[in-house]
Amino acid sequence: MASLCRQILRANAFRSVILPTARRGYADKMMPDPLEHATGLERKELLALQAGNDDPFNMKVVKKSAGTRENPTLVPSCFDARIVGCICEEHATAITWLWLHKDQPRRCECGHWYKLIEKPLL
Ligand SMILES: [Zn+2]
Repeated sequence: MASLCRQILRANAFRSVILPTARRGYADKMMPDPLEHATGLERKELLALQAGNDDPFNMKVVKKSAGTRENPTLVPSCFDARIVGCICEEHATAITWLWLHKDQPRRCECGHWYKLIEKPLL
């Protein structure tokens, strides 16, 4: 009788300890979420992407607005200055580069105006 009780206890111990451990072992072999390992800027970028911001560092091309002095194309930046590349004509083969400084709207040689606007850091 004592032997039977030991066998039942072992079987219960197997079910309660060994099987869940085996299942966890399978889960441990899956690839971890990159967000758990990312730090610094990479983590901020992943969190911004998760929040729905697909361009956290403003790397996408900005569509030109009217481009007049009163209604310039707004260029976001976290810094006091930024380089802007203007494609002056639709089929231009070269880009006109110009520095844009905070509180100083600037006119490209094609006549288009740009203005730097402040953007908060991530
Ligand atoms: Zn231009």
